Amino acid sequence: MTEVIFVGTSDAFGAGGRRQSAYVLRTEEGSTLVDCSGTTLTGLNVLGIERDEISTILISHYHGDHFMGIPQFLLAAIYEDKRRAPLNIAGPSGVEERVRSLCTLVGYGLEGREIPFPLIFHDLTADEEMEIGPVCVTPFNALHQESTQPHGLIMRLAGGHQVVYTGDTGWFEGLSQYTQDADLFICECTSYDRGLDFHINFRDIYEHREKLGARRVILTHLGPSMSSRRGSCPMETADDGLKITL
Ligand SMILES: [Zn+2]
Ligand SMILES: [Zn+2]
Repeated sequence: MTEVIFVGTSDAFGAGGRRQSAYVLRTEEGSTLVDCSGTTLTGLNVLGIERDEISTILISHYHGDHFMGIPQFLLAAIYEDKRRAPLNIAGPSGVEERVRSLCTLVGYGLEGREIPFPLIFHDLTADEEMEIGPVCVTPFNALHQESTQPHGLIMRLAGGHQVVYTGDTGWFEGLSQYTQDADLFICECTSYDRGLDFHINFRDIYEHREKLGARRVILTHLGPSMSSRRGSCPMETADDGLKITL
């Protein structure tokens, strides 16, 4: 059985009082956390998901609302969970340096700290598949601020299901080539109207919905103009705590 749990579904700024983007992909072989924001640990607690259940964290890109929660995750794993199981953290090139720098910057530096579990970093490269814990991930380049190394993620799970996640991106013509085989396409949709070229808006995704090929499409990373339309626009929208079985 594969479950996808929407831990956080807001834009970067907590629109609608919801948590920022994060998702748990749960299989019998282990669970993967996709993105980890500053509100993710709260979400895991609210939803009764143990941090120890997570064997792998995937980071789509280096914006704070997608990886800022990792220092707290690590500190909690060390001191509260007394974790022993290995933890994989995978992200765009330079992930170990990024995470270590972030930990230092926010006062949770890892240097000299005893970490009682194997902490394994993996650099992701666009269009190259990598098997990490319970997931085979193939990143693809997204259309977002370049300095954040933006990627979407194609994730093949034990049991054969495929979940595709945009990370943050503007709409681009090639996007639908990545979604054709998806059992679930988790698509960012920050705004309703066109205006930003580095985030998807509802008008673009709705216009192209027939091309996507995915068996189910759920919109997330909802900003104010989409948050207020949850459940009332003609495509499925996510909410915090949504759990679906593939
Ligand atoms: Zn974001
Ligand atoms: Zn972003």
